[in-house]
Amino acid sequence: QLHTVNQILEKQASTDVLTGLFNRLKLGSLLDAEIARAQRYATPLSIIILDIDHFKQINDTRGHQAGDDVLRELAQRLVSNLRACDAVARWGGEEFLIMLPNTPLQAGRECAEKLRAAIADFPFAAMPRVTASLGVAELKKGDQREPLIDRADQALYRAKDNGRDRVECV
Ligand code: GH3
Ligand code: MG
Ligand code: MG
Repeated sequence: QLHTVNQILEKQASTDVLTGLFNRLKLGSLLDAEIARAQRYATPLSIIILDIDHFKQINDTRGHQAGDDVLRELAQRLVSNLRACDAVARWGGEEFLIMLPNTPLQAGRECAEKLRAAIADFPFAAMPRVTASLGVAELKKGDQREPLIDRADQALYRAKDNGRDRVECV
């Protein structure tokens, strides 16, 4: 019984309630472990930061409930377009972080492009058209979590600046 309770508590501590994805705390620790592994064995590791475009407008025009529905549907599209060994988290309000073990930058870009299209090319139940911008970065030798995330963030800002609904790499 104690074991079952512990499992429930652990799941709650690591999950985002709205989307069912990992939360920031959990993916942060998975990412630290994967970075250590990638540095130790000299394997590639890429991450993607995804931010929904003009999400505030979705809330403002369709209501907060529709915004929540879009977040849930988008989360499901991410999961179904990723591999079991990848990990995805709701990183903030309308921002997601995806970890791609064993993946160099070019393959990370292809993955991000697939996710971009999976969002932009099909209507959502709560909203006819949703797009997102994505920034991709690859781990460099000696990198820790912060510089890696900073570079993905810079790429994301470039994707926003360059017109949204697009992927940029650093
Ligand atoms: P940009 O294209 O530059 O990213 O514009 P944006 O409107 O997506 O970005 P902004 O940061 O201005 O707005 C994000 C909005 O996301 C504002 C906030 O109310 C909304 N939001 C954050 N968390 C949730 C949530 O859990 N549910 C809903 N419905 N909205 C949320
Ligand atoms: Mg945002
Ligand atoms: Mg946004």
